[in-house]
Amino acid sequence: MSRTVLISGGNRGIGLAVARSFADAGDKVAVTYRTGAPPPGLFGVACDVTEEESVKRAVADVEAQYGPVEVLVANAGITRDGLLPMMSEKDFRDVIDTNVLGAFRLAKHATGGMLRKRWGRLVFMSSVMGTLGSPGQTNYAASKSALVGLARSLAWELGARKITSNVVTPGLIETDMIEHITDGRRAELIGNTPLRRTGTADEVAAVVRFLASDAASFVTGAVVPVSGGIGMGH
Ligand code: NDP
Repeated sequence: MSRTVLISGGNRGIGLAVARSFADAGDKVAVTYRTGAPPPGLFGVACDVTEEESVKRAVADVEAQYGPVEVLVANAGITRDGLLPMMSEKDFRDVIDTNVLGAFRLAKHATGGMLRKRWGRLVFMSSVMGTLGSPGQTNYAASKSALVGLARSLAWELGARKITSNVVTPGLIETDMIEHITDGRRAELIGNTPLRRTGTADEVAAVVRFLASDAASFVTGAVVPVSGGIGMGH
């Protein structure tokens, strides 16, 4: 069955791979983009997740095009790294505003149709760093663990309406986001990854697709690692 799927930050990286994967399966896919242009062949809506009006408008545009959102993938995220003495309050706030409040705003405005339909899928893009912790990433790790509490609360709030709410925790995935990581840190992270390599955006997309599918109808409140094993047990 073709579903209406909204992916935030779907113009590049993991979000784009997720979007293409749903589109290839025949779903009606909308992506948000903040900078640049929407990716070719996908319906794009301009959206900055740090602004509630922008999120509201984006959801309304998607609904006008495809009908109510049935699957939301809250993927947009940023890093603003720095060790504690150098970490400014602004950098901390910016990361929380995008990664946590952005997901909250999307969930708030995209679930109306799911509630009416009594069916829906929420998938939140967290990170293994949310539970592992990561030097220089107090803001990012805090934001990514916050998504677990958010998603699990929504699992309780929305479960009676057959709306599931799950979290994906990628490990090190080859996208623009990890370009600035030093060679030493990269080697350290790969060394702590049982599969001894980085992952691809497509490997994350496959798990998101599963969580959004009918096959995952009894899966909610789950935190699913796609990490090559780094962070297992947390
Ligand atoms: P990228 O940096 O490649 O992409 C980030 C995406 O988020 C872009 O589409 C970007 O839009 C969007 N975005 C950022 N800020 C905003 C905003 N305020 N409003 C709307 N969109 C915004 O990163 P990845 O693809 O790697 O990351 C995607 C998600 O996966 C993130 O949440 C990240 O934390 C998470 N993740 C990534 C890992 C990795 O190793 N790559 C590991 C674990 C988790 P724009 O192009 O306009 O800037």
